[in-house]
Amino acid sequence: MRTVHSLKELRTILRGYRQQGKTIGLVPTMGNLHDGHISLVRKATEAADVVVTSIFVNPMQFGANEDLDTYPRTLADDQEKLRLAGNTLVFAPTAEEIYPEGLARQTRVVVPEVSEGHCGASRPGHFEGVATVVSMLFNMVQPDFAVFGEKDFQQLAVIRKMARDLLIPVEVIGAPTVREADGLAKSSRNGYLSEEERAIAPTLYRALETTVAELASGRTDFEALETEAQQTLTGAGFRPDYFNIVNSQTLKPATAEDPELTVLAAAFLGTTRLIDNLSVRR
Ligand code: AMP
Repeated sequence: MRTVHSLKELRTILRGYRQQGKTIGLVPTMGNLHDGHISLVRKATEAADVVVTSIFVNPMQFGANEDLDTYPRTLADDQEKLRLAGNTLVFAPTAEEIYPEGLARQTRVVVPEVSEGHCGASRPGHFEGVATVVSMLFNMVQPDFAVFGEKDFQQLAVIRKMARDLLIPVEVIGAPTVREADGLAKSSRNGYLSEEERAIAPTLYRALETTVAELASGRTDFEALETEAQQTLTGAGFRPDYFNIVNSQTLKPATAEDPELTVLAAAFLGTTRLIDNLSVRR
C-alpha cells in the first residue's frame, strides 16, 4: 500500500490504474481511523479493484471555535489499519496542496435545502466546506464510486444532492453506522470524552432507540417525542444541540404521512459534540 501527499503523484498513479481498466473506489476521511471508517474501506474493496482512502483534516469545514487544531492526527496508525483492510492507496495531502491560494480565495460549493437545519444550523459553513472538499476529491480521484457513513446522515444527503445536481459521475454509496458494544456510535471525537462522560454517552443512542420504538408503534406527536428525548438527555448530563424527527429524504420536519422517518440528534457532553441518528419505516 502506498501513501502519496501530492496531487501530481496521485494523478500519475491513478492514470496507470485507469489504463489497466481498473475500477476505483474512494473513501474520504479525516483520519484517526476506527472500525467505522474501516467498514467503509472494506465495502469499497468488495466493489472496486483499487481503493483510495483520503486522509485530510479539512480546515474549511471547521468553525472558528471548533477543534481543528486539536483534531487527532495519527497517520502511521491509520496506514497500518488501512493496509490490513486491503486499501490500495492513501492520499494524505497538506492544506496547502488542496487550497494553494488559501481558504478565502477558494471557489466553494453550496448545497441548498438539505444543508439547512440540524448540523447546518449549528455549524454555519460546515456543509459548504464538506461539499467543496468532496467535490474536489471527486475531481482529483475521479472514482467510479465513493463510500460514506450513514453516521453522518445529513452529510450523506448533502453529498448525494451535490453529485446529482452537478452531474458528477460518481456513485455515492452509504454504509451503516458501526457502534461500540453499548450502542455508542464510533467516532474520532469519542476520544475526547472523560471516563465519566464515556459512561453517559450511550444515552444518546438509547434516546434514539426509544424514539424510534414510539414512532414504529404509530405515535405522530413528533414535537412531544422530541421534547421527551431532550429531557432524557438533559437529565443524563448532556446539553442537547438538536433532536429532530424528519422525513428521511428531504430532512424536513416529519409528517404523519411520511413512509420513512429519521431521528437526527446532536448533543454536547462537556465540550465534546456527539451526533447520531436512527431511521424507521412505517
Ligand atoms: P470522518 O473521518 O469523521 O470525517 O468520517 C469519514 C467517513 O467515515 C464519513 O463518511 C463518516 O460518515 C464515516 N464514519 C464515521 N464514523 C462512522 C461509524 N461509526 N460508522 C460508519 N461510518 C462512519
